[in-house]
Amino acid sequence: MILSDLTLQEIVDYAKDKGLPKFRGKQIFDGIYNGKSLNEVSNLPKNLLEIIEKEYPKYKIVKKLVSKEDGTKKYIFAMGDGQVVEGVLMEYKYGHTLCISTQVGCRMGCKFCASGLNGLIRNLSAGEILGQVLLVNNDLGGGLNDRKITNLVLMGSGEPLDNYENLSKFLKLISSEDGLNISQRNISISTCGLVPNIYKLADDGFNITLTISLHAPNDEIRKQTMPIANRYSIDQIMEACKYYFNKTGRRVIFEYTLIKGVNDSKENAQELAKRLKGLSCHVNVIPLNEVKERSLKTVTRNEAYAFCETLSKLGLSATVRRTMGEDISGACGQLRNSYLEGKI
Ligand code: SAH
Repeated sequence: MILSDLTLQEIVDYAKDKGLPKFRGKQIFDGIYNGKSLNEVSNLPKNLLEIIEKEYPKYKIVKKLVSKEDGTKKYIFAMGDGQVVEGVLMEYKYGHTLCISTQVGCRMGCKFCASGLNGLIRNLSAGEILGQVLLVNNDLGGGLNDRKITNLVLMGSGEPLDNYENLSKFLKLISSEDGLNISQRNISISTCGLVPNIYKLADDGFNITLTISLHAPNDEIRKQTMPIANRYSIDQIMEACKYYFNKTGRRVIFEYTLIKGVNDSKENAQELAKRLKGLSCHVNVIPLNEVKERSLKTVTRNEAYAFCETLSKLGLSATVRRTMGEDISGACGQLRNSYLEGKI
């Protein structure tokens, strides 16, 4: 356990167990939510620091790259045990969107993705997922009462629905009025489609935006790049999405990464449009970000626009994902790998 895994009340109880007065619990909470390391929490006496040293979060930013083109920032975070994950901060007109990770590595094994190259190393705890937000908020000059981050996307490394308990605790912490109070409406998670946990998310009363990594118009093509397609069919995913929509009223987003010669033909677009017709959804078309360890090839930006155009003409809401921070390229698990190889 680290203290950022806990709610305010739980931290107050923890402080009480250590024989500390209630206000100390709130001070510890403030320190954590201001993104401070233990030796930066100046209002706590030294002997108290020793008492809470073991449980106080030790995650930190170990690398930060800033795009000269558009101000996008890419971060490498080290957890207390030295494991690293990556995150990306994008600046939009309406505010800051932060993309964070939910696992170190991933066990889904998608053929185009760099996060799963070495399988799953471990889950991040709720407090470690939260910590990435608190660190970046602090890096932007914000704090508990000055929230700089408006939107969150859980699209960094890992499969959020493969770490359900920690994910759900995180969602409660981040949307709590005691904490940063980020509305669930401003949070998206991206999943390769772990069907039972999509139902669970809806039944547990969350109302975040659900993004499905579809990447194929049919199961046969999907199986070529996504092992999870052998467990759940696109039909099963669609059923779960309808259920999610009916429970939450939230439009579902589909991600469709274009891979040359695999899923990028006009027929593929037509089949996809047919499949999604009638569902309240949006399709994000993304040219593959080529991964050096993988042989899959990307499409040109114009080919992506053409694919998108076919979808639009057939009545779907679809856009090509904007690329950001290209001069500091390498997300989707590649940044972490570069860091581990000592290249950045
Ligand atoms: N496990 C989650 C989050 C993964 S990353 C999921 O599967 O959705 C977020 C998105 O980036 C997913 O849609 C994923 O399929 C996509 N992605 C991964 N590697 C990519 C690459 N090299 N190029 C483009 N998109 C990629």
